[in-house]
Parts: sequence; structure tokens; C-alpha cells
Amino acid sequence: SSQVDLTSVLSVDTRYKTETHAAASAGEQVVEETQVLFEANEEFRKNALVSSTEKYEEMYKQSVEDPDTFWSEIASQFHWEKKWDVTDGKVHTENFDVRKGPIKVEWFKGGKTNICYNALDRHVEAGRANDVAMFWEGNEPGYDSSVTFGNLLDLVSQVSNYLRSVGVKKGDAVVIYMPMLVELPVAMLACARIGAIHSVVFAGFSADSLAQRISDCKPKVVLTANGVMRGTKFINLKTIVDDALKQAKQEGYTVETSVVFANEVATKKEETAWVEGRDIWWQDVIPSQSTKSEVEWVDAEDPLFLLYTSGSTGKPKGVLHSTGGYMVYTATTFKHAFDYRPGEVYWCTADCGWITGHSYLTYGPLLNGATVVNFEGVPTYPDAGRCWEIVDKYNVNIFYTAPTAIRALMREGDKPVKKHLRKSLRVLGSVGEPINPAAWKWYYEVVGDSRCPISDTWWQTETGGFMITPMPGGWPLKPGSATFPFFGVQPAIVDENGKELHGECSGYLCVKASWPSTFRTLFGDHPRYETTYFAPFKGFYFSGDGCHRDKDGYYWLTGRVDDVINVSGHRIGSAEVESALVHHPLCAEAAVVGYDHEVKGQGIYAFVTLVEGVEYSDKLRKDLIAKVRSQIGPFAAPDIIHWAPGLPKTRSGKIMRRILRKIAASQIDELGDVSTLADPGVVEQLIELRDK
Ligand code: ATP
Ligand code: MG
Repeated sequence: SSQVDLTSVLSVDTRYKTETHAAASAGEQVVEETQVLFEANEEFRKNALVSSTEKYEEMYKQSVEDPDTFWSEIASQFHWEKKWDVTDGKVHTENFDVRKGPIKVEWFKGGKTNICYNALDRHVEAGRANDVAMFWEGNEPGYDSSVTFGNLLDLVSQVSNYLRSVGVKKGDAVVIYMPMLVELPVAMLACARIGAIHSVVFAGFSADSLAQRISDCKPKVVLTANGVMRGTKFINLKTIVDDALKQAKQEGYTVETSVVFANEVATKKEETAWVEGRDIWWQDVIPSQSTKSEVEWVDAEDPLFLLYTSGSTGKPKGVLHSTGGYMVYTATTFKHAFDYRPGEVYWCTADCGWITGHSYLTYGPLLNGATVVNFEGVPTYPDAGRCWEIVDKYNVNIFYTAPTAIRALMREGDKPVKKHLRKSLRVLGSVGEPINPAAWKWYYEVVGDSRCPISDTWWQTETGGFMITPMPGGWPLKPGSATFPFFGVQPAIVDENGKELHGECSGYLCVKASWPSTFRTLFGDHPRYETTYFAPFKGFYFSGDGCHRDKDGYYWLTGRVDDVINVSGHRIGSAEVESALVHHPLCAEAAVVGYDHEVKGQGIYAFVTLVEGVEYSDKLRKDLIAKVRSQIGPFAAPDIIHWAPGLPKTRSGKIMRRILRKIAASQIDELGDVSTLADPGVVEQLIELRDK
């Protein structure tokens, strides 16, 4: 059978711990893959949603053998104005095989629902109007607010009424370019309430990037703010929007209405550039709207939103998600991957400009009636203790962030963490990149006081929700592994010919069948959807990521397959080398790329950021190389170490390796578009430090 044998792989194997100890005491390199660092104790399991591997296996088995029954039962817990169609016992149809015709996925078709109704009205009607739905924490300490489910519903209703009043109808697109104010998730929910398709663009993206997205999805309205402070940096959002709207107009598309939230903490109204007739202040039109707003019942397959991928690998793709399956799946994954318990406070540090902010700051938690923290600022402002101060302030139980943030905080040492109690924390989460075991351990031991499991969630904009993720309480965790597939997810690791591999193996990570929140298309470009994701390996959805399955069946994401480096015939994942480098106590972050090498075909070029205050030296260079040699093998030893005060990252915190490849190849004139970088200045610094 093609299924991983979960019975054998999930039994807790104490042998590993013994091995680890033996290796450590013998002074050898500890093979990280064999370590089990977290195992839920009895107390944790007693209350856990999935309390044992047996329970998981049983549910997983049903979810893949009979997905229709499995998901129908879960879907029934939501409000459906009209129930979905059932044909031959099936609630979904799919074609995942390009050889059999167009790729098509549908879940709960014929059902009428509304995700905003399920996220807000449903809780208000159940008597929870006065419960806090969102704590908002501003960039500047001391600026905060809390919003109940009742408040949120009123706000959403007002915005939705306004959108209707300017002619936004079901199926129309609305672009949202706003900072992390309460009004951002409110705007998303308001669109959902009236069946409009929201497309959130991370506020801070350049005018070019925004214009490109506007020209692509042609929104009736753009919702924005005049400015925002992020850390100590002021971003004039309004001038960016103005430029973008001008560009879009030149390219042939005119936006008629731009609603501007006056963010007075960041900037003054009178200093805001203005286009009469097009621009209108949010505060002038929204508060006067009625707080009652009819719900637009939409088909489960009607589009909910459009979101462009973060563009780590090239031109962003307009990923389209539909309503019903996305609702059911994000709510269910949120609940299980974080073992969410009613009444808990949950904080996701992602911005709504990314899929994480959609599925796990807005929809997933609110559908569960959870209290979420929405933070406007950055983890290091005014100091590196800010996150833990916020955790204590709101008694956060579940904390979800990205490895890039963890490494940035780790660089500042333990002190800023230890200054705060963090007693409320129960579950931690990670998303965005493979988390290297060194960062995992720091997160686990220092932030979580060796008490909280870490849910390392692997998923993508395209998947809508978690695909491979721990369920705390279900099974032991190994640092750096996303562990096992979520219910209904059938991963397949294939070789370069598309042949599925079994047991312990490495290859391309694919998925064999649809899950409810599968993206339905790339906006306006179904052929690109098929060629990018379904044509490379016939019969599968191809994720673009590499993956290793160990002998216990644990999944280890090894980075994007484009990032694999071929050194004298050895295929080496950049993530592996980076992980080994970061394991050195003085290395804060590393990014590894390949470059043309006369002898080896490709050589390994490593950009290394050191821990705060550490000086560059040849000795350190040698130590770092030795670290990789001993941890992976001599064939993986970096040929070049390039000191990097900072790394070029997208605004979602991902390293843009295409730029590093150009620097490594000395093709400085061919860097391409650097405007979407969080800090384009980093690139100049790197160029200066060549040969240092
Ligand atoms: P683009 O597709 O435009 O290049 P992107 O892939 O960076 O952008 P996202 O959809 O935001 O856009 O990111 C998904 C990718 O992030 C995954 O394919 C994977 O490479 C990486 N990723 C996310 N979570 C994890 C995780 N827990 N472990 C390993 N990798 C992860
Ligand atoms: Mg991607």
C-alpha cells in the first residue's frame, strides 16, 4: 500500500533517547534526526483533543478512506443556510490528474453558507457577544484596545454596508492595503459578508508590486490607511497607494474609490496627499453606517479571496480560495494543530498580508470563537522582550510565529526572554520555513521552558491550511520535523520521474488527493495553475518543496527543490547546510546557495550572520566549516563563507536566494527586482563585504 504504516512509525521509541545520550557522552556529533525532545505528559494528554497516536491513526484512517463522511460530519458543526448536495454519498469531486482532463476540485457544492456569519454572528447568537474576540496591541507600548465579538460584528456590518453603498457586489474584488489595525481583519470579514472577493496586499509592498496586483484583479475599491509606524520606521502608505493607482491607470485600469483610514498615531490627516473624488476618509463614511447588515449566502464553491504568494521564487501567483472547504478546513486545523481549548488566548504574529494572517489570525481562530491577539508592531521594538511582555500582558496560551523571528530573538540572547514570566504559554507554533533544530531547541527550552510542544506547521498559500503538522498530545516531537500529515492529507514523496517512494526516502513532496481547502485556480490563469502544480508529476499536486521521510515515518521539509545544490553528484539541501551552520553558537543565521565550481560542478556558498557583537575572523570561518563537515559530511563543507550583517528577505521574512545566487556568481548587475525586499539596503552591504 502507498500509505505510510503509521502503526509501526508512531510507537514511541525510547531507543532514540538512549542513542542521543550515548552519542553525547561519547563526545560525538549528535544526530539530530534521532532526537525526541518533546513528549506530552499525562496531564497534557488527559485534556488533549487528540490524546494518543492510536486516536490519530483511527481518525486519519477514516479521513483518507472515507473523506466524504469524515468532512461532512465536521462541516455539519457550522451554519449552512442550505445543505450541500450529496451525489452517490460524495460531497466532493476532484480531478488531480492532468492526463484525465482539466484539474478541478469542489467541496460541499450546492451548500449555501457565509464564513463571516460563522465567525461572528454564530457566536453572538450563542450568547458570546461580550466575550473578547480580539486584543489589539499597537506598535507603541501603551496603545491597545480590546474588541468583543459583538463589537466586531458591528464594525464588520458597517464596513459591509459602506461597500454595498459604493456598488460592491458579490464576486467583485476589493484590494486591502492596510496595517495591522483591527480594521484589517474587519475589512476582510466585511467583504466575506457580502460575497466580495478580498485581496490583501501586505502594507509596505512597493507601489510597483501593488499596481501589478491591482491591474491583475481589478478591484472596485481599495481600502488603505494614510500611514503606519513599524518599530521606529514610518511608512507612508498613502503615497505608495497613490503611485500604484496612477500606474494601474496607465496600464488601463482605474480604481474609483480609495478609502483611507486616518491612522493618527502614525501621521496627521492634514499631511496626507489627496485626490478629490476618489479618496475618502474611512472615519467620514464608516461610523455613520448601520450596524445591521444582511448576510449574503454564497455557494460553498464561490470564491472567498485571492492572495498573491510571497514571491520567494519568482512572479507572485494569484491563489484563489473558495468558501466552504476553506472554512471547514482552517477551523479544524487550527483546533487540532494547536490543541485549542475554549477560552484560550491565541497570538499569531503574522500579518494579514500573508496566508497565515488569513487562515490563522482571522478565519481559523474566529471560527472557533477563540480570542486572538493582533499586534501592529515588530518583535524587537522597543526591545527584544516585547513578545514576552505581550504574552504576559494578555496571558497568551498559544503563540505562533516564524523561524526568522525566532532566530532574530535568539540572536539577542536569553535575557530579554527570562525577564518575563511566560507562565500562560501552553503551545508554541512555527511556520514559513524549515525550522533548524538549533532554533527549535532555543524556542522550546528558553521560550517554552521545556514545557510547551512546538507545532511546526508545513503548508502553503496554495494549501489554505496546515498539511503536515504535529498534534500536541498525539505523538513525540523531533526538532525540525513537521511530523505527520493532517487528517485527509495524503502526502507522497516522489522521485524525479514521478514515481512514488515508500518507507524511508527523500524526494519531491506531492499530495495525492484534494483536501477541502485546496486552492481552486490561479486567478485568471487556469493553465498556469495546471502547468505549475499538476503537470510536473502526473497525478499529483506538486508543492515545490523537497522532503525526507525518516525511518519512523516523520516528515522533514528540506526546502524548495530549486534550492538543492549538486556537489560532485551529492544532492544537498540548502536547509541542511544552513541548519548545521546555525548550530554553531556564534552563528545567528545562514543562507546557502550553489555557484559554478570548476571541479565539483557546484560549490557551496554560505552567507553567515553572526550573533550580536561577534567579530569576523578566519578562525571562526574554519570553525563554521568544520561544523558542517562533522554534522553532515565533508562533501557538504562550504567552499566560501561570506559575512553578512543581514540577509535579503521578502516582507514575510523569507530569504530571497535568487539574489544571493547572483552575488555568489558575481553577477551584481543582474540582481533583478529588489523592490519587494524588506530592506533593499542589505544587498549593498553584502556587495561591499565580498572578499572580506
Ligand atoms: P512563492 O510561491 O511566490 O515563491 P512562497 O512559497 O514563499 O512564495 P508561501 O505560500 O507564503 O509563499 O510559502 C510557502 C512555502 O514556505 C512552502 O512551500 C515552504 O517552502 C515554506 N514553508 C512554510 N512552512 C514551512 C514549514 N513549517 N517547514 C518548512 N517549510 C515551510
Ligand atoms: Mg510557494
